[in-house]
Amino acid sequence: MKFTKGTRFIQEEHPELLKDESSLSGGNCQAAAWPENETEAAEFLKECCEDCVPLTISGARTGITGGAVPMGGAVLSTDLLKGILPTSRANIIRVRAGETLDSVQEYCKREKPGLFYPPDPTETTASTGGTIATNASGAASYRYGSTRKWIDRLSVLLPSGTDIIIKRGEYQFSRGKLCHPGLGTINLPELKKPQPIKNAAGLHIAPDMDLIDLFIGSEGKLGLILEADLILTEKPYAVASFAVFCDENQFWKLRRDLVNANLPLRELEAMADPSLSFLSRNTGKTFPGRGNWVLFTSIDVDSEENLDTALETLEMLLEELGISPDNTWGGFDEMERKRLKEFRHLLPETVNRIISGLSSKNSRIHKISTDTAVHPEQLREYYCTMKTILRNSGVEHVVFGHSGQGHLHANLIPEDNSQLEKAEQAVEQIAKEAVKLGGTVSAEHGTGKLKAPLLRLMYSQKELDGMDLLVKSISSC
Ligand SMILES: Cc1cc2nc3c(=O)[nH]c(=O)nc-3n(C[C@H](O)[C@H](O)[C@H](O)COP(=O)(O)OP(=O)(O)OC[C@H]3O[C@@H](n4cnc5c(N)ncnc54)[C@H](O)[C@@H]3O)c2cc1C
Repeated sequence: MKFTKGTRFIQEEHPELLKDESSLSGGNCQAAAWPENETEAAEFLKECCEDCVPLTISGARTGITGGAVPMGGAVLSTDLLKGILPTSRANIIRVRAGETLDSVQEYCKREKPGLFYPPDPTETTASTGGTIATNASGAASYRYGSTRKWIDRLSVLLPSGTDIIIKRGEYQFSRGKLCHPGLGTINLPELKKPQPIKNAAGLHIAPDMDLIDLFIGSEGKLGLILEADLILTEKPYAVASFAVFCDENQFWKLRRDLVNANLPLRELEAMADPSLSFLSRNTGKTFPGRGNWVLFTSIDVDSEENLDTALETLEMLLEELGISPDNTWGGFDEMERKRLKEFRHLLPETVNRIISGLSSKNSRIHKISTDTAVHPEQLREYYCTMKTILRNSGVEHVVFGHSGQGHLHANLIPEDNSQLEKAEQAVEQIAKEAVKLGGTVSAEHGTGKLKAPLLRLMYSQKELDGMDLLVKSISSC
């Protein structure tokens, strides 16, 4: 097994292990291992557990909450845990944790024509293990749901190094309790109210859930996800994607009308003002169409006839709102859709690049963003509150994301320490407002290290203690 130790040596030779896309600074560790198989991984986990060394699991480090950034202890990287295999079921493939989403899709194209794996959290270099550990979502989650729905079986190494296989449907909690041959009796903490549907804050808790759902989204706290059986689904006949450039009023109306039109929408995304001018300024690129908001949508269709109907409906909705066809950028083939996706991806990428530059000059600066979500019907009202908080902070910001799921991200760009504090206060205020509306402080990125303090806004101390107790009881198995 590739293994190395020494804090200074790792800093110099493997700096990549000490950072993720959050630009959180201060990462350090005394040892790092890159197991290639289950035996090597189990041995390393067991050693860390016996020597009481805190362990951080590191996937592709595309996370933006610092979850994979070690603060001491040891790191286990899943980079060399590779392999994709078919299973006896045509729509299920077995994938090792270190495979990227890109390679999963490539495999599907090659070996499973007609099928695809729906979770697509924008950053396709993310590892399969990391996306399961954070229950990642993305634009297409509007139609297909988050990663959780697409996992049929997990092979997990508990923090002690013991391996367990969890197959969906095999072990089910009943009123918050479950007896499992390897894990013993597990009691779920009681929550005052059910967690929101789109949620990645804290362990997933529902009194009658499947055991597998506790491990999905557990952010490495319950062990190492070694391998997963991913469920594939049929590709639609065609996907038509559009970016509609419009003003704010038109945006909200079009969003409402698209939902009401009952089209088979795959995604309903937004870039709010001033995202476009921010992008032009920082990338030098210009964009077709006029207007300072962009609504992105994709429609899955199952026949040529459906495609024509969907296009006619969209055309009619645009005409009613006075949006000229010139302000719409459509993508029907794979290349055009890829361009649209790249355009959508450019915004978070550009913010991350700027933050990374600022952080190299001032190590206190890191990614400051919100991952809050509310019920989709409350989004417009919530956006107005968000915007007021952001304006009052005086810190440069952009807002974009998954408008169809009530989930818009604010990304703030603080230039100095005083702005950093204001940005952090704004993020906390925005999170409080989401909780007031029954929403979540983190809908898809997980809380990692940066957002962990927000959990107390959403859960009582008793609920948080219950989650900690659950982690401890599984860690001792
Ligand atoms: C430009 C950009 C856009 C993004 N857009 C989205 C988006 O739309 N939706 C979304 O959900 N996310 C998004 N992300 C965040 C990120 O891609 C996801 O959180 C992804 O799931 C992280 O995967 P990773 O392999 O990089 O995990 P890492 O960052 O390496 O780790 C994330 C967490 O999972 C744990 N972990 C990793 N692997 C394992 C494992 N095998 N077993 C147990 N625990 C593990 C780590 O300890 C850590 O706590 C975006 C990121 C970027 C850079």
